[in-house]
Amino acid sequence: SLSIGIVGLPNVGKSTLFNALTKSGNALAANYPFATIEPNVGIVGVPDSRLDKLAEIYGSARVLPAKVEFVDIAGLVKGASEGQGRGNQFLANIRETDAICQVIRVFSDPDVTHVDGEVAPERDIETINTELILADLQTIEKALPRLQKEARTNKDRKVLLEAAEAAAKLLDTGTTLYAGGKAAGIDLADLRELHLLTAKPFLYVFNLDADELTDADLRAKLSALVAPAEAVFLDAKIESELVELPDDEALELLQSVGQEESGLAQLARVGFETLGLQTYLTAGPKEARAWTIRKGATAPEAAGVIHTDFQRGFIKAEVISFDDLVEAGSMTAARAAGKARIEGKDYVMRDGDVVEFRFNV
Ligand code: GDP
Repeated sequence: SLSIGIVGLPNVGKSTLFNALTKSGNALAANYPFATIEPNVGIVGVPDSRLDKLAEIYGSARVLPAKVEFVDIAGLVKGASEGQGRGNQFLANIRETDAICQVIRVFSDPDVTHVDGEVAPERDIETINTELILADLQTIEKALPRLQKEARTNKDRKVLLEAAEAAAKLLDTGTTLYAGGKAAGIDLADLRELHLLTAKPFLYVFNLDADELTDADLRAKLSALVAPAEAVFLDAKIESELVELPDDEALELLQSVGQEESGLAQLARVGFETLGLQTYLTAGPKEARAWTIRKGATAPEAAGVIHTDFQRGFIKAEVISFDDLVEAGSMTAARAAGKARIEGKDYVMRDGDVVEFRFNV
């Protein structure tokens, strides 16, 4: 499944956040019988109020949200791209993830030293980006002689060569491919086989002091630093407390710092979107469940997420939009009102489709 790598300089609250992710994931994993969770992987449910509504309509015994997987990528320090610290391991681990989440320190605690002397979010973002950019430049430099040779005899390879040259030029200006590739006329898909780090989607977690969570000016300023990437604002210390509390007390703590939803929940949602994923829904007396698919997935591909046999034996899907189902009040009423559609193998799924598959086994 797709995963998001969490990176950050030392002492920014990465472990604190990751421990909260892991705790929250363990609670979730209890609902997924065969899920094995590795120590450097944290799994969070994507909050989805539609599931509660479905559970109500169908009398479902439990609710299973979509999940996002976060991987703790330790070892980002200045010079990682030159093998400093555990630089090479760091780069190998981060290459395997599908998106990069940078944790940036904003909280000012005199007892927690900052590796570069003082709290400065903009400089930290630059430090991290510089390491990732240098690693990409090395990758491209290493590949260029081979690509040049191949491009002489093969037109297809010329596309990759030209994209790689344009990418190197952009990276040299200190801009990541994710932030600047499009404007520079680079099609990131052309570069896929080089597995460049800065071509992955980025998102940012700003670790604030609790009293900064409601500071709209600060949030706007920090958002602007990372646009077009998405930003999540949280207090990692509070997140680590929230996962230990029963629901009602957690809500109380959140409200006391002016929040309606935990930072982890926001991170799960933003992470899910950053990965280019969407969900469709199934419901019955046993469970109401969100299934993860890529945007643009067809009905048989969606069926394959439940079981590969469903994809192979796909006949058709009965589909109704979540809103239509809620309006009708039940599947039977929705059918009677002509709101349930029978779709074939070319149907492209929409977010929030409620589906029943028909298949041969
Ligand atoms: P890492 O090195 O990035 O993994 O950072 P840690 O999670 O180990 O945190 C470093 C120190 O900062 C620890 O003493 C944490 O308790 C503290 N810390 C983490 N997050 C926060 C926060 O949001 N506010 C404050 N005041 N301290 C924090």
